[in-house]
Amino acid sequence: MSKPLNRRLFLTGTLGSAAAVALAACGGGEEEPTVAEVDTADFPEGSTMAALAEAGTLTIGTKFDQPLFGQAGPDGNPVGFDVEIGKIIAGALGIAAGDIKWSETVSANREPFIENGQVDIVVATYTINDTRKEVVDFAGPYYEAGQALMVLIDNEDITGEDSLAGKKVASVEGSTPAQYILDNHPDSELVSFDTYSNCVTALINGQVDVVTTDNVILAGFVAADEENLKLVNDGETFTTEPYGVGLAKGDDDFRTFLNDTLQAAYDDGTWAKAWEDTAGVVLPTPEPPAIDRY
Ligand code: GLU
Repeated sequence: MSKPLNRRLFLTGTLGSAAAVALAACGGGEEEPTVAEVDTADFPEGSTMAALAEAGTLTIGTKFDQPLFGQAGPDGNPVGFDVEIGKIIAGALGIAAGDIKWSETVSANREPFIENGQVDIVVATYTINDTRKEVVDFAGPYYEAGQALMVLIDNEDITGEDSLAGKKVASVEGSTPAQYILDNHPDSELVSFDTYSNCVTALINGQVDVVTTDNVILAGFVAADEENLKLVNDGETFTTEPYGVGLAKGDDDFRTFLNDTLQAAYDDGTWAKAWEDTAGVVLPTPEPPAIDRY
């Protein structure tokens, strides 16, 4: 399984960095996604959609430290592809982008935040898997990433997952890439942090040898610091990480609504625009993955 997703990143070089800076500065596009004219009576009585439309606000858990997907912008609100997906969902509920409440989630607190109602949905580079489905549900996937490795620019001894033995490998608690290292590379030393930006700091400081997580998260960090960081083997991936929108377990009507909203965004070009305005500044536009209405 090898997807050299980041090739364009290297080809564009300085342009990639300049574009990433522009993205951070302008918030990923001035135009906000369309807000539907919604009447609460449009939604089934007692549904989550009716309650949210009535409240006029949606609380979304997302990352605040991941370039391209969810990163706090100058006004404190996050910007990135996950953020745009959140705005598309809010828009379908008749809620304007400015009425969204953004809540910072890290990898380990996504399920608890959904379970205790602290957020209505999570859009946060959140892999759909069976373990998580025991406690939350997922709409989507709306993107498919894969686990990869990132090292300091002058590192030559880490060439793929086969060279992790004896290495200090940084990843984030509660993430699928950290679990993959524990399960598949017991001869390496997993060093866990709460966020990926803290993993990157540890790599720069020489506390760890390599950072592992999804290729597109790492590509965002590389784009922001091409002088110091690089992806191993052109961002070769060794797992599949389908990103879903997390929601409360058992809320099937809401899940159907979220899946319909994502499908509509695929069909009318909104999804592609959201990508191009954010992650697409440094990564090629993918085909949207088929929605899994399990
Ligand atoms: N997609 C993986 C996960 O959900 C890694 C990225 C993250 O931790 O947000 O665990």
